Amino acid sequence: MIGQFNYTRPHTIDEALEVLAGEGACPLAGGTDLLIQIRNGKRDPRVLVDLKGIAELKNVEDVGDYIRIGPLVTINQILKSELLSAYTALLNGAAVLGCHEIRNRATVGGNICNASPSGDVLIPLLLFDPLLVVRGRGGQREIPMEDFFTGAGKTILAQGEILTDILLPKVGDCKSVYRRKSRIKGMDLSSISMGLLIKPLPGGTHSFRLVFGAVTACPKRMRQAEQILSGRPLERELVDEAIKAVQNVIAPRESSLRGSPAYKRAMVEVLLRDGIKELTEGNFL
Ligand SMILES: Cc1cc2nc3c(=O)[nH]c(=O)nc-3n(C[C@H](O)[C@H](O)[C@H](O)COP(=O)(O)OP(=O)(O)OC[C@H]3O[C@@H](n4cnc5c(N)ncnc54)[C@H](O)[C@@H]3O)c2cc1C
Repeated sequence: MIGQFNYTRPHTIDEALEVLAGEGACPLAGGTDLLIQIRNGKRDPRVLVDLKGIAELKNVEDVGDYIRIGPLVTINQILKSELLSAYTALLNGAAVLGCHEIRNRATVGGNICNASPSGDVLIPLLLFDPLLVVRGRGGQREIPMEDFFTGAGKTILAQGEILTDILLPKVGDCKSVYRRKSRIKGMDLSSISMGLLIKPLPGGTHSFRLVFGAVTACPKRMRQAEQILSGRPLERELVDEAIKAVQNVIAPRESSLRGSPAYKRAMVEVLLRDGIKELTEGNFL
């Protein structure tokens, strides 16, 4: 049973911020998380402020040093955008999110602001070091995406603030991949996921960026493992060391419905070995 709320659909960011400053006002994007949370009684907004009427939040565009993704861009738009074709891990994540109908509705900004540790778009996005632009009536601030999350389902957004831009640095010569494990082959959330990015360094080695989903409350990069792998010739022992470094910092929940901590620790090894193999075509593993 859904409680009563008012609904408004502003056409500019300023109009939206005006309404969002009111008590109990809440931004609505595709609604594929929010409406379910309202129906389950987890959220009880007084006013839903539908951001879908704001044209400037719905584009992917080249803005010089960055590709700007508006937060209202849908997952299917991501998959179709030529500007994003080099961000392979992001496309891998978008392709496995929900089903076609959900991807038509669900947005990038909604995935980020919902802050699920298993979000299939936010996890691969972290590989590309995006800047997030947040606006409220008091002004705007730019935040590295990794600093945006403060816990499972929690972000630094204050009441009345919205995400307005996702600024992706242009990718140079790099390869990336995102893979996940889920309980069933059809539509399911991920039990554990991994994003990996490599860039060639002089001398034949690579720099690595690594992120795992559904194993920490706060989505974050695995910096120690990145350091172990970066700039050194890849050998089996090095990869073993990186796997251990990830297994030591993750904190999978005992109560998770989608996999025990033991399963997730085992899958860290499978995902990382497979990911490195896929990107480096290495046969040393
Ligand atoms: C059947 C089904 C399958 C799904 N499968 C997956 C899956 O495989 N992987 C996955 O990651 N997710 C999945 N989801 C979850 C969901 O579809 C995604 O998280 C989606 O990206 C949320 O986007 P949305 O536009 O629907 O967000 P909404 O539900 O509209 O909003 C989510 C939250 O973000 C806030 N918000 C939205 N936009 C902004 C903004 N610009 N500024 C500030 N706050 C904002 C809202 O207030 C709300 O708190 C699934 C959902 C369903 C119903």
